[in-house]
Amino acid sequence: MIRVLVWCEHHQDQFQDNVKETYPEFMHNAIANFLREDRNLDVKTATLYDDENCGITDEVLANTDVIIWWGHVRHHDVPDEIAAKVQKFVINGGGFVPLHSAHFCKPFIRLMGTTCGLGVDGFGKHTINCVRPGHPITKGVPELFELPVEERFVEFYDVPQPDELIYVTGYETGRTFRSGCAYYRGRGKVFYFQPGHETNPTYRDKNIQQVIKNAVYWVAPNRD
Ligand code: ZN
Repeated sequence: MIRVLVWCEHHQDQFQDNVKETYPEFMHNAIANFLREDRNLDVKTATLYDDENCGITDEVLANTDVIIWWGHVRHHDVPDEIAAKVQKFVINGGGFVPLHSAHFCKPFIRLMGTTCGLGVDGFGKHTINCVRPGHPITKGVPELFELPVEERFVEFYDVPQPDELIYVTGYETGRTFRSGCAYYRGRGKVFYFQPGHETNPTYRDKNIQQVIKNAVYWVAPNRD
């Protein structure tokens, strides 16, 4: 079993009407629910304010293989010492999958060592191109697929050049974004994946679900 912790700040999905309408079950549950369809994944959730230490304790980390992280407007409420714990978790072999606006979460910035800033250019159709066919993260996913509406993140994305660039998204505007970036850090692995704005039902899309599931398997520690 791969032990997965789905971490969400759980703020807009409590207090913002259009987010509550999109994810009435809350975002962490929306993500955890499709992962739980896989019987090889043991999936738990944690949120910023409702759990002790933001849900990131030494005991939790000792019993976790992969952390999925969704945050947006409350990154600053994650204490630096919690971010350092997550960074250490990855360096020691843990897996980390920051989604969408988690490009600005403290653990990701610590792991990248750059600003992790990017451009935002409204909303529109996403054409998601696999640029690394055969990579485990792409298994069972079409090499080209679309999302009808998502938030357009655009270059320049200030992250280190990915160790493995898996997806590049194109827009009708002509701009692009490196939307699926894989990194090795210490003994651990990181996969950043861009889709997943809180007012779009992106986490209900089967291709997106498959990429995130594949990412869990790819970043999980190799215990052989
Ligand atoms: Zn967004």
